[in-house]
Amino acid sequence: MCGKCESRLNSRTVAGEPRRWRYACIRLPGRQATHCGGISISGEPLDELVTDLVLDLLSEPGISREAPRVPDGKPEAMRKAAVIQSRLQELLVNYTSGRIARADYLIAQERGKKALAELHLETFGTPVNPLAGFPTTEADVRQVWEGLNLDRQRAVLRVLIKTVLVRPAVSHAPRFDPNRVEIGWRA
Ligand SMILES: [Zn+2]
Repeated sequence: MCGKCESRLNSRTVAGEPRRWRYACIRLPGRQATHCGGISISGEPLDELVTDLVLDLLSEPGISREAPRVPDGKPEAMRKAAVIQSRLQELLVNYTSGRIARADYLIAQERGKKALAELHLETFGTPVNPLAGFPTTEADVRQVWEGLNLDRQRAVLRVLIKTVLVRPAVSHAPRFDPNRVEIGWRA
């Protein structure tokens, strides 16, 4: 969010450097009234800063990681959930006893978790908390985070962060200044 006009920043690649991008308040025809065009910040360090802060937060206990609830009072959904959970349990036993390879275990486990998440959505009409099942130690948090695809990472960010405000640069130095960034946490 722009620290001058509070409009949404857009990302754009840096001219001549296709792998670098910036977030900027961009004035375009038709939206001069809402976008001041006065803010721009380097994309990669901003993403890194936000990720670091989020992983720090996730490494602390007290963040809700409520696992998917077994749907109460919905016999059909409860039965389905029980089947998936016992399959996951069996899978874990097979993996720890060496009967299946780690890669197969991870694939099957992911499939089971996805089935539980779909069941949750179907039953309650709301998605599962994206933080469910997140570990609590810093190294584990980072490892799990890096294994998530972009959509799942975004879902985690959306749960925790309301806004990222970027204030105007104090000097014209090209160096990234983390003090310009203010994060609006949800909790
Ligand atoms: Zn602006």
